Amino acid sequence: MSKMIRKGDLPQKTCPVCRKPFTWRKKWERDWENVVYCSERCRRSGKTGSADKP
Ligand SMILES: [Zn+2]
Repeated sequence: MSKMIRKGDLPQKTCPVCRKPFTWRKKWERDWENVVYCSERCRRSGKTGSADKP
């Protein structure tokens, strides 16, 4: 009983900046828990810009 990640069944998260769901990528395999944004661009705007706060 081992957990395997199958193609088409990858974990997903929703980017808080662009509000789009993004899928697990190989480059994140070691850091998936810490991945919040879908891309470097969103990461920057998520840290610097706070346009999405209520
Ligand atoms: Zn994004």
